[in-house]
Amino acid sequence: MQVEQRTFIAVKPDGVKRGLVGEIIKRFETKGFKLIGLKMLNVTQELAEQHYGEHKGKPFYNRLIEYIQSGPIVAMVWKGYDVIHSARQMMGSTKPLEAQVGTIRADFALVKEYNVVHGSDSVESAEREINIYFKPEELCDDYENMAEKVIERLDD
Ligand code: UDP
Ligand code: MG
Repeated sequence: MQVEQRTFIAVKPDGVKRGLVGEIIKRFETKGFKLIGLKMLNVTQELAEQHYGEHKGKPFYNRLIEYIQSGPIVAMVWKGYDVIHSARQMMGSTKPLEAQVGTIRADFALVKEYNVVHGSDSVESAEREINIYFKPEELCDDYENMAEKVIERLDD
């Protein structure tokens, strides 16, 4: 069964610097997901540690914390049917070499250390990450998304 979910997606600093913000937004937008949160920000040390707490102690942790602070990110919340899993599929594997052709990481990234995009991996991490980056009043869910409209019509 398809379930409506929310997920946290971010264009990482390398993606912003390389001018990939529009391209990445476009993929989720044209897929039919609903954009309900969007902001550009500089990640602080505290935010970085909160976001990537699960990786603390791993060999790549310190570099990851530096990487996510190496320039602004574009933080987003997207909503839709199975959006968490679907967005992960659209992003492709962490290692761009293993990512399926046509995914964001396969198309735009060379190495896992600079893989241009972040996406939550479960319902729990999505809610946790959304709350790290957005206040509830910053989310704008009160409008009609065209893809949702089409699905409503099918259900009639
Ligand atoms: N990462 C890295 N080296 C690794 C594994 C991960 O630099 O060996 C970075 C990479 O930017 C990745 C992030 O840490 O996107 C978080 O890792 P995770 O395993 O959660 O991958 P993701 O969920 O982003 O695919
Ligand atoms: Mg992850």
